[in-house]
Amino acid sequence: MANKSRRDFMRNSMLGLAALPLGAGILSKTAFAQELPRLDPSSSNAQALNYVEDASEASDHPAYEEGERCDNCMFFNAETQGCQLFPENSVEPAGWCQSWTAQA
Ligand code: SF4
Repeated sequence: MANKSRRDFMRNSMLGLAALPLGAGILSKTAFAQELPRLDPSSSNAQALNYVEDASEASDHPAYEEGERCDNCMFFNAETQGCQLFPENSVEPAGWCQSWTAQA
């Protein structure tokens, strides 16, 4: 009985160790997303492209069409919420800027 318990313990320990890299990967992705500071809409970079955190606020912009949002733009990275045009920041998935381009 003691041998079976030890075997179960060892098996469970090995499974736990095997799962560590997966957990670490998930944590590092989360940590990376949190490391990118949110783009400040009032910053000069954001204002240069008329970035807004809520796409509906762009409804009066001539380039905006309903349904356009950062999270369906080809420059958006869903894992990091980053944008290729603002590489040092993350952007609101529901945001928008005048460089919005449909995903391929
Ligand atoms: S380029 Fe796309 S993802 Fe980046 S801020 Fe503009 S709409 Fe959002």
